Amino acid sequence: MKGIKRKKLFIIGSSPCLLMKALILKDRYDITIIEKNSDIGGAWLYTEKFGMIMDNGPHLLYTLRRDLSAIYSFLNKEIGVKFQVHSPQPTSEESIFFFNTPEFNYTHFVAAKTEKRYTRFVIQLFQTLKNKFSDLIFKNSKYKYLYIEGGTYQLLKKFKEKLKQEGIKLILKESINNIEIIEGAIFLKSKKNIYKADKILTTSRLDLKLFSTKSLLIKTHKKEETILMVVYAKIKTQEKLKFSYHTFSKNDAFYLISDITNTTQQGSFDSKIISIAMNKNHQNTNITKSSIEKQLRDKRILPNDFVIEDVIVDSFIDKKIDSKIIKAILENSKGKITFINHDNLTRCWLSSIQNRYL
Ligand SMILES: Cc1cc2nc3c(=O)[nH]c(=O)nc-3n(C[C@H](O)[C@H](O)[C@H](O)COP(=O)(O)OP(=O)(O)OC[C@H]3O[C@@H](n4cnc5c(N)ncnc54)[C@H](O)[C@@H]3O)c2cc1C
Repeated sequence: MKGIKRKKLFIIGSSPCLLMKALILKDRYDITIIEKNSDIGGAWLYTEKFGMIMDNGPHLLYTLRRDLSAIYSFLNKEIGVKFQVHSPQPTSEESIFFFNTPEFNYTHFVAAKTEKRYTRFVIQLFQTLKNKFSDLIFKNSKYKYLYIEGGTYQLLKKFKEKLKQEGIKLILKESINNIEIIEGAIFLKSKKNIYKADKILTTSRLDLKLFSTKSLLIKTHKKEETILMVVYAKIKTQEKLKFSYHTFSKNDAFYLISDITNTTQQGSFDSKIISIAMNKNHQNTNITKSSIEKQLRDKRILPNDFVIEDVIVDSFIDKKIDSKIIKAILENSKGKITFINHDNLTRCWLSSIQNRYL
């Protein structure tokens, strides 16, 4: 839209969901992204472990019923990323117990909520029928779990190139502490700068100290917090791994284990990297190489000859602004602030493509 002065939109945070929003809104707004970390990506930022760059988990796009081809074609067209089917498709304890078919896999998440086997069986049967019907409607949904070719490293690299190409400004290593609305104008304050915005798009995971208007001052320190402990194990085996992503019951020490080697920058490296998400009740137990090795042997998921070479224990703290505080901010910002609030990137991307406005 040449010649028309576009409104200034500030996006605070740079998760892949916010990055896709930036690309969708780029023609309507003059966009600046502000990220407090030294790189973009939020929870999808890759890390360096065992001397290699890797995803911090399986990072899958998944759905039960919905056709995700709109996401694949958008990202392929806009930034040139490709997707791969997660192979073999994820399995779960429940699915092995009943019928080991792909249709039964995802039901574990639902089934884990109930203790009764009979109820679980009925739920699984229902889900399977639902899947069968949705597969008839959405031809592309037969692959339910996909990952990005090259992992989040590729995704974020391509996003960064595209931001530059489109002239979307990116400010790294700057944290917005306060948002103030003064006489209808909206200001973002960091330690170094004050920015005047027409609109703000951000996430419920925003780390903000203060929101204020002429008549209101909200300290946003109240947070809803979840801690996820993940153990990374570097393993060696001569045999082929038989799983890619496997979930356990909620009473187990592990919640899920996954082979993340395919999204790890490997070089000449010949080991496998397994990420193990610990269930809540087992996060404070003493985690050592031998305790993890013993538990993995008990599970019989890995080939018999496996040896753990090294483990790294890591934790992710997911903090969200209290929902009542978000409600108060929204009521007092007269449509100038929009929050995304989701726990699943697949759903967030899909809804962003379906609704192309702020
Ligand atoms: C370990 C892990 C694995 C996951 N795996 C999957 C998966 O496989 N599939 C899936 O669909 N979903 C997955 N999710 C969920 C999905 O990644 C998240 O729902 C999504 O990334 C959340 O996006 P967000 O913008 O709300 O928050 P975040 O990703 O946390 O991003 C928030 C960003 O805002 C920045 N920020 C915060 N405050 C400020 C400030 N004051 N100033 C400047 N910048 C600020 C942060 O630095 C961060 O970059 C996973 C989540 C985690 C934690």
